[in-house]
Amino acid sequence: MPGGRSRLQRTLGKKVRQLDYHEEDYRYPPKPDSYYDVKEKGMCRWCGNLINNERGERNMRASWHPDCSEEYRMIYDTTYVRKYIRQRDYAECNWCGEYDPRFHVDHIRPLYEQKGLSNSEIDLSYWDERNLQTLCRKCHKEKTKEDMKRLREIKNEQKEKV
Ligand SMILES: [Zn+2]
Ligand SMILES: [Zn+2]
Repeated sequence: MPGGRSRLQRTLGKKVRQLDYHEEDYRYPPKPDSYYDVKEKGMCRWCGNLINNERGERNMRASWHPDCSEEYRMIYDTTYVRKYIRQRDYAECNWCGEYDPRFHVDHIRPLYEQKGLSNSEIDLSYWDERNLQTLCRKCHKEKTKEDMKRLREIKNEQKEKV
């Protein structure tokens, strides 16, 4: 796919490892080491495994498995995610059913639950499309309120334990 490649390169952005990306912004999980370390063609920057062509030979022109690049973009490329969810849910709210062209992509289990976890503890299923839903602006506001209330409860429970 011509054109596709330059778009992907733009999307992928910075190649410099950040020491603790997760601490900086818990909405995005840290990238795997192969993302930074794999420099040769024919090796996937996401899973670190060889990329073969249809004939089973190493594909020296590719840097990503198609599935891996899809997985990557579903996590880091918010424009891509939004487009994907729009096609899946038709911009119809999962709570009230209203159509809202300015809908929000909501994480059903909120991402703050992943905040402060170490790399090995992070649960990537939080970024899976099964954890994504379309909410209209009104319902998203409600949901955020509920999420925040729950967050305060958790914090209070933790305080009481100390
Ligand atoms: Zn891969
Ligand atoms: Zn709604």
